[in-house]
Amino acid sequence: MSTKNLVKSTLNPDLAVINEICAAGEPWVKEIKKGQTFRIVDLEGNQAVDTLFYNAQDAMERYSASDTICRQHSLYLTTGSKLYSNFGNVMLTITADTCGRHDTVGGACAAESNTTRYALDKYPMHSCRDNFLHALAHDPVCERLGMSKRDIPANINFFMNVPVTEEGNLEFADGVSAPGKYVEMHAEMDVVVLISNCPQLNNPCNAYNPTPIRLLIWPRM
Ligand SMILES: [Zn+2]
Repeated sequence: MSTKNLVKSTLNPDLAVINEICAAGEPWVKEIKKGQTFRIVDLEGNQAVDTLFYNAQDAMERYSASDTICRQHSLYLTTGSKLYSNFGNVMLTITADTCGRHDTVGGACAAESNTTRYALDKYPMHSCRDNFLHALAHDPVCERLGMSKRDIPANINFFMNVPVTEEGNLEFADGVSAPGKYVEMHAEMDVVVLISNCPQLNNPCNAYNPTPIRLLIWPRM
């Protein structure tokens, strides 16, 4: 993995307008205005942060993994990566990254995938899809946009390491992140961010131990 994209931020956390903790395994929703900067901090390391973005005025426009991958000829996200929507617009640009690699293809864990990947008795375990569904049903921002379970496209997995093998297989590998690593992005439009701070207990993406994350938003500068 290249380290040339490891870029630190110059922003002061004391000046952030949002500075919140999302507990291990929980969802988190917030609006980010055009020009604001958003940071996700992997507080204890090796956490997977399943993330979706929507146009804050019209949720029919949302982060598109396929547009983001195709337009940049890259499967991984890091400093300089642009997050494209299904309408071909840049939603956010990654401006700092001390982790170095973020996944675009691994998707979100669900009761169904836990069952087929691990064991039948994993079905009732809490999953990212549960978090997304819960937020879509109960969060006032999602309610305002009229969102429902049809509004869950392929997500970003920040801090998650999903290398693609030469044969084209995906590996859910041990994380490359570490305590305090962060990724920061500049909003190019008004967006809603929907996060599931992954509760997965069956694979090493979060070291079998989900942990909290910190979320900061800085005002437009
Ligand atoms: Zn998950």
